[in-house]
Amino acid sequence: MELPSTDAYVGQLAEPEALLVPSQCPKCELGALAPWGTRVLTIKDLDDLERVVVSSLEVKRYRCQACGKTGTQALPFVAENRAMTLRLVHWIEQQALCRPFTAIAQAVGVTEGTIRNVFRDYLDRLEAGRVIPAPTYLALREVQIEKKPRCVIFDAERGHPFDVVDHSEQAITAALLSLQNVTQIRVVTVGMNQQQRAAVKATLPAAPLAVDLGEVNGLVDAAVEQVRLHVRSLSTDSQKRTLLGDRQIMHTRRADLTEHGSASLAVWQTDFPLLVAAYDAAEELKSILISGSDEGSYTAWRNGLSLEIRPFFAIALQAFQGWWPCIQISASYPDLLSFRRFPELSLVTEGGRKQSSEVLRAKLLLGRLST
Ligand SMILES: [Zn+2]
Repeated sequence: MELPSTDAYVGQLAEPEALLVPSQCPKCELGALAPWGTRVLTIKDLDDLERVVVSSLEVKRYRCQACGKTGTQALPFVAENRAMTLRLVHWIEQQALCRPFTAIAQAVGVTEGTIRNVFRDYLDRLEAGRVIPAPTYLALREVQIEKKPRCVIFDAERGHPFDVVDHSEQAITAALLSLQNVTQIRVVTVGMNQQQRAAVKATLPAAPLAVDLGEVNGLVDAAVEQVRLHVRSLSTDSQKRTLLGDRQIMHTRRADLTEHGSASLAVWQTDFPLLVAAYDAAEELKSILISGSDEGSYTAWRNGLSLEIRPFFAIALQAFQGWWPCIQISASYPDLLSFRRFPELSLVTEGGRKQSSEVLRAKLLLGRLST
């Protein structure tokens, strides 16, 4: 940002001779302007050594001879509505990306609220000017930042995040609207989440909508884990010894089981039939999920669940309601399964300080977040 030298106005009541007084009234565009006294402004600025300095600046006032309105000569180097130079505002914006707002407030001699406002304006400007080319595989995921749910929007293939917004339908919708070239999106992946689904349907109605199969499988695993803990809680110490390694075995797909794992399941068939029934049910469901079968296969699986097993799968069954079309779409894009990289948003700066979601967002918009 090119600014006039501070020499133009540093010092007591410097005469801002370099500043232009319009030759014609900017309000009515008719009248000539007559001098109308002066006004002294106190402006904060940054010197060459990055120290905040306060300058008094005398500016000329004028009055229109036609319409009678008064005005002050324009100060192109001063931020609008702030008693700060643009140079200082720019410095605050950059500092805010790496230092606590309170420290900057202290350095500048303003309240933390002022720093926050400067930074919000900056974020708004970044947002207004951004152009995000839509990725081939768009994905949304909920994360907790500062104990609040936020939505990370990212390129699933590259594991690259490009936005983080409040987790509300409105905020997600606004973020998705700024995507360019949306026709190149092959598929959008959301979590099992109504706000995400609604925002995508509203903004990208033509894009196939998939659900994160990792999340779906996680629900199945959680059901299996419930059964495992239940079985353990009912077992004697000597029984527990035969359950050695159960956690790993229960969460391994059949095709990936070791010889020992398969043998254990065969033994448990007699001693812990509930455990093996849960394993079999989960295996069957995962096969259905991955094959992209129609909803009929899922319904048949659900109806076939034994009464002993069903309560442990209740949360999963409830969550799947209404999501089958998205599960099927996920299965029809096998590429999605190979995208295991969820962007790890570093919520902590190098100095070990937690950064707010606003700072995080600014860095994303600037493309300055290392992931
Ligand atoms: Zn006028």
